[in-house]
Amino acid sequence: MPGEFELIARHFTRPVRRAALGVGDDCALLNVTPGMQLAVSSDMLVEGRHFLSTVAPARLGHKALAVNLSDLAACGAEPLAFMLALALPRADEAFVAPFAQGLYALADLHGIELVGGDTTAGPLNICITVFGQVPAGQALLRSGAEVGDEVWVSGTLGDARLALEAFRGTVALPGDAFDAVRRAMELPQPRVALGRALRGVATSAIDLSDGLLGDLGHVLRRSGVGAWVDVDALPRSAWLAAMPQPLQHECLLAGGDDYELLFTAPAAARAAVQAAGAAAGVAVHRCGQVDAGTGLRVVDGQGRAVSTPWQAFDHFA
Ligand code: ADP
Ligand code: MG
Repeated sequence: MPGEFELIARHFTRPVRRAALGVGDDCALLNVTPGMQLAVSSDMLVEGRHFLSTVAPARLGHKALAVNLSDLAACGAEPLAFMLALALPRADEAFVAPFAQGLYALADLHGIELVGGDTTAGPLNICITVFGQVPAGQALLRSGAEVGDEVWVSGTLGDARLALEAFRGTVALPGDAFDAVRRAMELPQPRVALGRALRGVATSAIDLSDGLLGDLGHVLRRSGVGAWVDVDALPRSAWLAAMPQPLQHECLLAGGDDYELLFTAPAAARAAVQAAGAAAGVAVHRCGQVDAGTGLRVVDGQGRAVSTPWQAFDHFA
């Protein structure tokens, strides 16, 4: 098995084009365009907590970067570069090589570079830090929602949670449905282009990682407003739509791992929101409205209250 430095040299060292200095020195050096702010975010993936040991290493590499890019997307930032801090039980190239392939494939898709990191022995743990840039003052924040704004979500919600339930054995899915929802769980597509297109259009944004109830709750608290959401207006796959209603509601509202964008925009910006979705190639759906109340009320298409008995996800709860 290779040593630490061989492993880095073989799998995590590529020449950089955008960065001034990449892997190999004590620091990486990044070029930031004048007039832009640096947008920075970290997300850690721990085996057994964030992913199952059954996941293919290439998909794990994809997902580790995807969840980080999703945070840049939520801020409307353009990705620049990322760092990888990796704890590995063994210097197992049968794991590391496809992991790096999946990671670089998504990085190449977004034109970003791995510029450094840290590698240590230990229980499998993957921590990525992404760097992006956004015109000064134009980042989309959680705190910008205003009374009267409409609530939107991108893509479809709930499939990743449906996949988790299938893995747990609480639902049985036909093979093609299982493959499709498993892809949603293991290969999320960060909505980077949509986030950038929403700059100057959306008033607030967040990426859906812990489920809509909790994540929209963060936006409402940071913005000091309330909202209602129509659960029947939430976009879902045909697979999820075929499930019993209570399971649909749980996957849509408390699912987690969606990595879609949830955002608010004034009603007058409807056409601009649709144009942003079209430009980014992502469907966007209007599903609620910000009001002067406190907290979130979930209703159905007839305006009747829908019960939401789930606790928002908390690692220490
Ligand atoms: P230091 O002793 O300064 O912590 P290291 O010996 O840990 O440096 O790392 C050597 C070089 O390799 C550094 O440039 C570091 O950023 C890079 N590096 C270490 N691990 C990784 C990794 N998993 N992915 C990318 N670069 C890495
Ligand atoms: Mg080090």
